[in-house]
Amino acid sequence: MKIPIRALVLICSLWFIATPALLARSSAFDQFFIDKTLRVDIFHTGTKGTETFSLDHAYEEGAWPGSAVNLLDTLDLGEYQIRVYDRLSAALIFSRGYSTMFNEWQTTDEASAMIYRTFHETVRLPYPKGKIQLTISRRDKTMDFHEVFSTVIDPNSSTEVNHEKRIPALKIFSLMDNGSLHDHVDLLILGDGYRKGDVEKFRKDAKHFNDVMFSTEPFKSRKSSFNVRAIEIASQDSGIDKPDKNIWKHSALGTQYNTFGAARYILTEEDRTLHDIAAAAPYDFLLILVNDNRYGGGGIYNLYTTCYTISDAPGQEWQTDYVYVHEFGHSFGGLGDEYYSSGISDNFYQKGVEPWEPNLTTLSKKDDLKWKHFVAPGILIPTPWEKVTYDSLQRERSKLDRLAADYYKKRAPIYEAQEQLLKTTKYAGTVGAFEGAGYVAEGLYRPAVDCRMFSLSLVDFDPVCAAAINRVIDFYSK
Ligand SMILES: [Zn+2]
Repeated sequence: MKIPIRALVLICSLWFIATPALLARSSAFDQFFIDKTLRVDIFHTGTKGTETFSLDHAYEEGAWPGSAVNLLDTLDLGEYQIRVYDRLSAALIFSRGYSTMFNEWQTTDEASAMIYRTFHETVRLPYPKGKIQLTISRRDKTMDFHEVFSTVIDPNSSTEVNHEKRIPALKIFSLMDNGSLHDHVDLLILGDGYRKGDVEKFRKDAKHFNDVMFSTEPFKSRKSSFNVRAIEIASQDSGIDKPDKNIWKHSALGTQYNTFGAARYILTEEDRTLHDIAAAAPYDFLLILVNDNRYGGGGIYNLYTTCYTISDAPGQEWQTDYVYVHEFGHSFGGLGDEYYSSGISDNFYQKGVEPWEPNLTTLSKKDDLKWKHFVAPGILIPTPWEKVTYDSLQRERSKLDRLAADYYKKRAPIYEAQEQLLKTTKYAGTVGAFEGAGYVAEGLYRPAVDCRMFSLSLVDFDPVCAAAINRVIDFYSK
């Protein structure tokens, strides 16, 4: 970028003011921002291999919930990154990584058929004092970011930003309150498919799933770094859409099963409605509880987590707990799925391209493994495990009809054999590089033989995933 001389002088003077040690609220935040949120809504259109962005609307929202110290992203997670420059000084004043429904949709057959679609997206930043240039960058195959969109927004303009007090009158209750917004991670739990009469169930569900999260490490040890609130939202119908069964429900947030053709994948395409409702409370991360009984959920980095709340079979209630924390691993920690043989598109990760997810690797840099500091001394890389046996069990399991009445009965012996294998294999509990991850049996590796991102069980996050989660907690709670 060519920077005018006047701006260079300003950047130089900023350099003296804003040395890293001084990048506290008193300097960078107060210099460039006021303690409110600027929400920018965007239309994201395209097909496989091509995309365009256009501005929908910008809104002034409530207090900035994020860190007032960590304004520039150091986590390096997500497929995209927004970067915000102060127009006057050309200084980079805010950045944040995130992923989208759009980039996942680009891996579907629909996109491969060159059909175009549009998704609505929202990015948020602290409210700037002066004019900003907001850019969106996307990663290339070497994981470097390249700018794909740029727009200028004047936060003081009455035509460019909607300054209406748009806070919906919804009841908010606190599940955990540990202090101020800036130096805590603020989680917001929303319910979908809960009718007015289901409010007691929502309150119970919100408490239950929050208790589950904070009895799981590393969240358990970091409890005091979080605030958790929940919003009571009434849907017209109970339950959510199941398009494959021709079941349609009018739910407040528009969540649906069958996202991208996967029976158990729950997301909403009603992004604007979701963010309009979420504006009722401050939040860094959103979690959506779905009042329905088909196994399912979803989690996209820095977008939201979804989770079903009603067990689909007696004795399987623990699976809802598993899903809630697993999906939050995606949406909060930027963790990738470590499982494979799931029927999910095997081109989700491009062959030979190192994923940005902290828990997946192609092992192209075997001597410079991204989690090398966690690897046990003397362990073989790749690390041997009984993959052939596990895979043959998995093939049996994949033949079962997940929605059939006798599914769990038929699954039980296979499941138990797999669990036994994962618990008793020689390198169980050790960090190495185990082949099979990210929906492919070969060419992608995971840090441990088992983890909350691998098997459908209540196993803990492996040390690499736990460290990634801790980094995000640290970032948001300073
Ligand atoms: Zn997952």
